[in-house]
Amino acid sequence: MEYLIPPRELFIDGEWVQPICRKRIPIINPATEEAIGDIPAATPEDVEVAVAAARRAFIRNKGEDWSKASGAVRAKYLRAIAAKVTERKSQLAKLEAIDCGKPLDEAAWDMDDVAGCFEYYADLAEGLDAKQKAPISLPMETFKSYVLKEPIGVVGLITPWNYPLLMATWKVAPALAAGCTAILKPSELASMTCLELADICREVGLPPGVLNILTGLGPEARASLASHPDVAKIAFTGSSATGSKVMTAAAQLVKPVSLELGGKSPIVVFDDIDLDIAAEWILFGCFWTNGQICSATSRLIVHESIASELLDRLVKWSKNIKVSDPLEEGCRLGPIVSRGQYEKILKFISTAKSEGATIQTGGTRPEHLKTGFFIEPTIITDVTNSMQIWREEVFGPVLCVKTFSTEEEAIQLANDTHYGLGAAVISKDPERCDRVSKAFQAGIVWINCSQPCFCQAPWGGNKRSGFGRELGEWGLENYLSVKHVTQYVSPDPWGWYQSPSKL
Ligand code: NAD
Repeated sequence: MEYLIPPRELFIDGEWVQPICRKRIPIINPATEEAIGDIPAATPEDVEVAVAAARRAFIRNKGEDWSKASGAVRAKYLRAIAAKVTERKSQLAKLEAIDCGKPLDEAAWDMDDVAGCFEYYADLAEGLDAKQKAPISLPMETFKSYVLKEPIGVVGLITPWNYPLLMATWKVAPALAAGCTAILKPSELASMTCLELADICREVGLPPGVLNILTGLGPEARASLASHPDVAKIAFTGSSATGSKVMTAAAQLVKPVSLELGGKSPIVVFDDIDLDIAAEWILFGCFWTNGQICSATSRLIVHESIASELLDRLVKWSKNIKVSDPLEEGCRLGPIVSRGQYEKILKFISTAKSEGATIQTGGTRPEHLKTGFFIEPTIITDVTNSMQIWREEVFGPVLCVKTFSTEEEAIQLANDTHYGLGAAVISKDPERCDRVSKAFQAGIVWINCSQPCFCQAPWGGNKRSGFGRELGEWGLENYLSVKHVTQYVSPDPWGWYQSPSKL
């Protein structure tokens, strides 16, 4: 099959710009292990140029600056971007699938979500105009106060490879809606669709410098965003380890950060359920996006009375999942994104085995696929609370199973983790679902499902899964600073000191 990989450069100040170092990074198709193109490698020098461009766009001082434009003007551009994404949906989905390995059907779904997210924040940008100067009720009539919501400035947006364009959109759309200008730094493992977003920005005539997109390797290039004095905020999605580094760099300048980090989310299944319905949600919750989802419910906590019957079904369903090249029709599990991740996941599985866990199904490369970073859907039992496979984020198609006998025990097992991103409960008893939802220590809870996500609802975690919320109105607030204005409205003097003229 032939792929049309558009040759792209860095996107700075509305133009394609070669990286100053002239270096490029190969794009590897994880299904074939072949290099299919390359992306430019930005360095700190390119970051400097991009930050300067974003700063000029923020405060252009000619009545055309992005930060002072009305929300309605910004909305127009966001809607134009959404329309172009929809127009190019099949090309973008294909590029996404061959870049990060996700099944084409899922990539197509992502593109709908990308367009929907730009549309949604266009509405919120317009709504922002009406919310300016919101009055605050005060206990003194001599004063009047109101609130201005202002864009925070130039923002640095750092994103991962598992939903390359969608994770970028969750940041770019609200940042631009708020009036910020931005530098987007996608993951070096999957940047193609973000560079196509740059092309779309050119097509719709987004003012130069409003969005700059820098691809590339080199922790120093990315870290320099966090430590740059002209970058007012960093919004980061990625691993907890990198998030901690970004936060450390930003802390030197007391720079705000929002962090969307990893997870090890539980799914608690009670004994009053329909086994087939539950089995499908359990598998979807862990194996969707090739198991590479921050919120994957990868710890199954099942009532002991149904564990054996449910496990039989899970194993049967798993063996039936179509593992193939993501572009093949009906693919439901593609390859892992890179050799590094592939080897990391296999190491997790071999460590689990050596610690005494049992691999019920999967655990290796599927026999019918000789090349590509493929791993079968894997289910592991006989795990203990202290095993690495139960405690650490695998970020691959690996489900671990433990049983419980009481609701209290299930909640204790679910919350016994450093992470706090997602959690799911499956039961026909609404009161029980309500109780368990409240008891979960997580930012997102699913009842009788796992993973659905809507751009209108907040997304984010607790504990080491990070802080701050993306999406919904919370996502917009991430990029706004609140300015409180108080006016003295009485005709009378304040009268605290005696007037010299009256002495
Ligand atoms: P990662 O932490 O390796 O990289 C994320 C981004 O940070 C990439 O763009 C990378 O180039 C950049 N980066 C790496 N080192 C850096 C440094 N020193 N300074 C600044 N930036 C640096 O994560 P990943 O492997 O790309 O993504 C997988 C992780 O992302 C998983 O842990 C997953 O749970 C998490 N994730 C979280 C969410 C969420 O919403 N909470 C969503 C998707 C992915």
